[in-house]
Amino acid sequence: MSQIVKKFYKILIETIFPPKCLVCGSFIKSPEGDNNGLSEGADLSLTVQIQVERLLSECLCRNCIGGLKAVESPLCSCCGLPFESRHGLDHCCGDCSASPKKFRIARAPLVYEQVFTEVIHCYKYKGKIQLAGPLAELLLTAFRLFWDKDSIDVVVPVPLHLKRLRKRGFNQAYQLIRNWQTIAGQVPFDLSDLQIEPDVLVRTVPTAPQTGLGRRQRAANIKNAFELVDEAKIIDKRILLVDDVYTTGATADECARLLVRHGAAHVDVLSLARAV
Ligand SMILES: [Zn+2]
Ligand SMILES: [Zn+2]
Repeated sequence: MSQIVKKFYKILIETIFPPKCLVCGSFIKSPEGDNNGLSEGADLSLTVQIQVERLLSECLCRNCIGGLKAVESPLCSCCGLPFESRHGLDHCCGDCSASPKKFRIARAPLVYEQVFTEVIHCYKYKGKIQLAGPLAELLLTAFRLFWDKDSIDVVVPVPLHLKRLRKRGFNQAYQLIRNWQTIAGQVPFDLSDLQIEPDVLVRTVPTAPQTGLGRRQRAANIKNAFELVDEAKIIDKRILLVDDVYTTGATADECARLLVRHGAAHVDVLSLARAV
């Protein structure tokens, strides 16, 4: 279909069914220009905020996009917690100094606050599959910003217990990375050496949801909840563990503990959102 016909259909559909913001329900004014995803040679110095605006402009209104907050320095050099003070350099936070994490670093593009909580809720529980592509690309953008692609060998999503997987129908963490190679290919950004391994870890204990639990309770709730299925895939490998939200880090730390104990070279963590 030619670009002009495509554009005509888009305008027609939007006139009959004007798109609504997934968070507040107000009508979205169609963004100007084409949204072709990661543009060739995309400038990585563009802030996450600008990338977010580009990626989510068809799902959220301008007001809600304005409510999204990028994680910015100064932050904890280990767990990625942004500090309240906007001055100074990145340094290790009190929690990471007191109880060193089993992973090396954790990073996320956005703060887990009101609007983004609702966005992730729409994606995980309300079947808003139109968010899957933009969120996957946002996560890939964060990966490109925070890591050198040659510094990771294997990407592992945090698994769901089979019971929850059956109920939800998909693993939100795996959905965010499964098409990375295709998205990256459009840039082009070569990720062909990166192994994406959804079946390295399994969740053997159907843990209660972590929501509402404190730091200690979360760690106790998640302890020994995972098992390693395929040791050969992680021995001496540099692992990137992926989850949707980083809250206290208990889940990431438990997975990292298991991976490192079985021979992973090191584990880093990437999530969409960072609770503060
Ligand atoms: Zn809105
Ligand atoms: Zn920290």
